[in-house]
Amino acid sequence: MAKVYNIAIDGPAGAGKSTIAKAAAKQLGFIYVDTGALYRAVALEMMSRGISPNDKERVIAELEKFGDGYFSLRFIDGVQHVFSGEKDVSSMIRTPEVSMGASAVSAIPEVRKFLFELQRDIAAKNSVIMDGRDIGTVVLPNADLKIFLTASAEVRAERRFKELAEKPDCPTYEQVLSDIKQRDYNDMHRETSPLKQADDAVLADTSELDLDGAIALIISMIKEKCAL
Ligand code: C5P
Repeated sequence: MAKVYNIAIDGPAGAGKSTIAKAAAKQLGFIYVDTGALYRAVALEMMSRGISPNDKERVIAELEKFGDGYFSLRFIDGVQHVFSGEKDVSSMIRTPEVSMGASAVSAIPEVRKFLFELQRDIAAKNSVIMDGRDIGTVVLPNADLKIFLTASAEVRAERRFKELAEKPDCPTYEQVLSDIKQRDYNDMHRETSPLKQADDAVLADTSELDLDGAIALIISMIKEKCAL
């Protein structure tokens, strides 16, 4: 079997992980795996069942009703789609409410455990760039390369605000910044798998880089490390 490469990219919300990882994966012929989509799908499913993502007991009780594989990632023409049962929820999970809900459910250890094997399994079979919060620390501790991608909260809020500005019901910049800071706090202070840089991860700060510069940097790091 051909050598499979695993690249872990972790970092806070809005650091550009998904855009950068997606572009790098395309150039390198790797699969891009956005693990945040799984936490978002769990949050959306709970919300659509009238369960608050903050209600730990009810989320756990509901989770037990789902069989393995209820939430899944499928790759169609190389593009990730996230499924909740047989429903493709990829475009429904990108709202500010679902973002906050994902942050809440991701702090529940049972939710993390439920999604763990699925992530491991994809990486065992494919060359991947996997992005999330705990990929280098927990999901893929033996990844070939671990990158901790970050940028200042203000730069991240600015970027997210520009994305959201194209959509109806756009929040204000101040709201986006406050959400980002709240999610950073939640992600870094939860007990299970908090967001932190793995000891053997390389830090990449994109505050001063434009998108093309950041993509080029990540690709060169991967090529060098994996001798591609
Ligand atoms: O990356 P994204 O913003 O889509 O992630 C949504 C939420 O899911 C994050 O705020 C984080 O709380 C959670 N998450 C996580 N572990 C991952 C990926 C995402 O806890 N590996």
